[in-house]
Amino acid sequence: MPLSISHNYSLRKHNTFGLDVKAERFVAYDTVEELITVLADIRNDKQRTLHIGNGSNLLFTKDFKGTILHSNIKFIDILSRDRDEVMVRVGAGVAWDDFCAAMARNGYYGPENLSHIPGEVGAAAIQNIGAYGVEVESIIHEVETIEISTGNPRVFQASECQYGYRDSIFKNQLQGQYIVTAVVFRLSPSPKCHLDYGQLQELQSSTTTPSPQAIRDAVIAIRRSKLPEPQDLGSAGSFFKNPVVPVEVYQHIALSYPTVPHYVINEDSVKIPAAWLIEQCGLKGKELGGAAVYERQPLILVNKHNAKPNDIIALADHVKQCVYNKFNITLNPEVNYI
Ligand SMILES: Cc1cc2nc3c(=O)[nH]c(=O)nc-3n(C[C@H](O)[C@H](O)[C@H](O)COP(=O)(O)OP(=O)(O)OC[C@H]3O[C@@H](n4cnc5c(N)ncnc54)[C@H](O)[C@@H]3O)c2cc1C
Repeated sequence: MPLSISHNYSLRKHNTFGLDVKAERFVAYDTVEELITVLADIRNDKQRTLHIGNGSNLLFTKDFKGTILHSNIKFIDILSRDRDEVMVRVGAGVAWDDFCAAMARNGYYGPENLSHIPGEVGAAAIQNIGAYGVEVESIIHEVETIEISTGNPRVFQASECQYGYRDSIFKNQLQGQYIVTAVVFRLSPSPKCHLDYGQLQELQSSTTTPSPQAIRDAVIAIRRSKLPEPQDLGSAGSFFKNPVVPVEVYQHIALSYPTVPHYVINEDSVKIPAAWLIEQCGLKGKELGGAAVYERQPLILVNKHNAKPNDIIALADHVKQCVYNKFNITLNPEVNYI
């Protein structure tokens, strides 16, 4: 597909909430050279820009004035392979799950626990996606980027990316400054399984070590049973981050709710599942306009009846306020408001 430029373009297919907002200009590019040319034009015209992947972590609050960029850089290249490791370079525009599927087929361990997460490879490196006890930072070797302000390439080693819980340098100091064009992953040809998490523990009981494909299949089955498929019901996955609170706040809650689920971070702080807090507020299934709190997993807000951006914003605000009123805890969104 050559460089494609569209004007007054509907983003409905480019955000998993399925919101019908428009971009003033939408540019899809196929190569790094095309990207560099487009960025030079954008700099000349001083246009506002946003690079998106599959829009599975975005909440468009209104039409976007400016240029939305999207990568069609798609390749999966095995750079090297020996007994201990496989290095794989992947274009930023590859669907994340296509990469997971290809690696499972090859028998390489690494991304299988992250199977079926929507989105693209470039965004995965920005977001530090995680699921079932694994975060993508554990398999990233380096991240290839182009600097928006200069068009110059820069390669970030994983250690420079300041990865944290759903966080990276690209969401903080360097927000909006670099575009990811490819990611190099370090995978393992021999078993390296992470099966401690919930239903995946069942795979541990088998006498043979599960293949990456078996783990991938199990992960997909679990996800399908719990999460809405974006093509059936619009959402952006977990809407809020799980809050990390001072241990005293946790202890206060535990007085009234002795079985409050929690995860000890260190002696001062505790993480409490946001889904539990929302459920205690009686908000499962709560609807506002076309938006709703997902019945099966209250951390997910869904587009139930042709929701408008304001319906989702209002519902998110309501959830946040209820949790604050009941527990004195402020929920922060995982989803990017645009
Ligand atoms: C049903 C569902 C389930 C989900 N489950 C999980 C889960 O288990 N774990 C998890 O971590 N997340 C999950 N998510 C969230 C989402 O899938 C991830 O955050 C994903 O990485 C977003 O990818 P994307 O391509 O859609 O990026 P977008 O949502 O389009 O963008 C996300 C961010 O990355 C930036 N970006 C995108 N591409 C590039 C690029 N090439 N260069 C620079 N910046 C870029 C954007 O500007 C934005 O800031 C889920 C979402 C849904 C809808």
